Amino acid sequence: MRVVFGLGSVNRLVDELAALDLKRVLVLCSPEQADLGERLSATLGETSAGVVAEARMHVPVETADRACALALELGADGCVAVGGGSAIGLGKAIALRHALPIVAVPTTYAGSEMTAVWGLTENGEKRTGRDNRVLPRSVVYDPELTVTLPAELSATSGMNAIAHAVEALYAPDLTPVVALMAEEGVRALASALPRIIADGKDVGARADAQYGAWLCGACLGSTTMSLHHKLCHVLGGTLGLPHAPTHTVLLPHVLSFNSPAAADAIGALSRALGTGFPARALHRLAGSLGAPRSLKELGMAEREIPRIAELAVTTAYANPRPVSREAVEFVLRAAWAGLLPSAEWHDLMFDSAPRIIG
Ligand code: NAD
Repeated sequence: MRVVFGLGSVNRLVDELAALDLKRVLVLCSPEQADLGERLSATLGETSAGVVAEARMHVPVETADRACALALELGADGCVAVGGGSAIGLGKAIALRHALPIVAVPTTYAGSEMTAVWGLTENGEKRTGRDNRVLPRSVVYDPELTVTLPAELSATSGMNAIAHAVEALYAPDLTPVVALMAEEGVRALASALPRIIADGKDVGARADAQYGAWLCGACLGSTTMSLHHKLCHVLGGTLGLPHAPTHTVLLPHVLSFNSPAAADAIGALSRALGTGFPARALHRLAGSLGAPRSLKELGMAEREIPRIAELAVTTAYANPRPVSREAVEFVLRAAWAGLLPSAEWHDLMFDSAPRIIG
């Protein structure tokens, strides 16, 4: 994968397309970023086959079908996906079926550009998988394109990126180099996000956040995710909760639960966050950024908790601490209410009989 990073790097998009020998690309973006898509398309001149401004969260299969048909009809030989995980996800859906190379121009911190993971939603059910054909061939990170990302989206998208690094740090396939990347990614984002909330046009802070997002996205692409990503997937798929805010709310609680079984991860996160209690620090960071901190705020009904807990344990997946329905229910109850993670409960939780505290 090629990566171009830094202010003004979007001006090098034409060179990136030439380096990949792409002569007719379809530009993909969300309807909200149609102007940006059109602008990029105009700078590409003859190399642009057109713009599809239809990208949607979780890639509805109907959208993917339309975009694929258009790519074939226009004779596209590649895609430029500009935007967040939704635009890049649409590019991946096309790449999966027609092997068209993707050049990604990310404008959030979600990290999809660094992974070979694709997702498609059909009849309310999201399928995901890994396929190297969907890994972008080139990524162009220009912090200037992120200054328009609103404060709340910046905060939750940044926390979404941090979640990739947190789960990488206790992944079964963690390597020493990915551990370095995860620690540095968390450090960069935790320092940049408060500066972005203070001034969204601070391009230095935006560049630091994008650097962190690159690192955290690479962690997501290199390791197996655990309970946190599984729970977010179930909550998004079953109740339609918003992607990045759900990550933001859940992360401190899942980390709190996993802490007793993830000493090395806690060590790395403590260094990155400058505190010995990373779960609580992440909860406080989200609060200081004005981000949501409870599932209740995201519109989840309390009565859904047992059903979600049940769904989250139907298939086995990696996690440093054994996962039971009771444990997941406990984590969900704490996240639903937005409680401050506390040392007492993560030591007590489930080592004997499960019980609800607080
Ligand atoms: P998104 O792409 O849906 O973007 C959210 C909104 O923000 C959209 O309306 C978008 O147009 C707008 N936006 C994006 N950048 C902007 C900017 N700079 N200025 C103004 N508005 C901007 O949100 P997301 O959180 O980036 O992506 C979420 C999706 O990505 C989910 O479907 C998730 O499952 C997927 N995802 C996939 C992977 C993977 O590895 N496959 C990784 C992370 C996320």
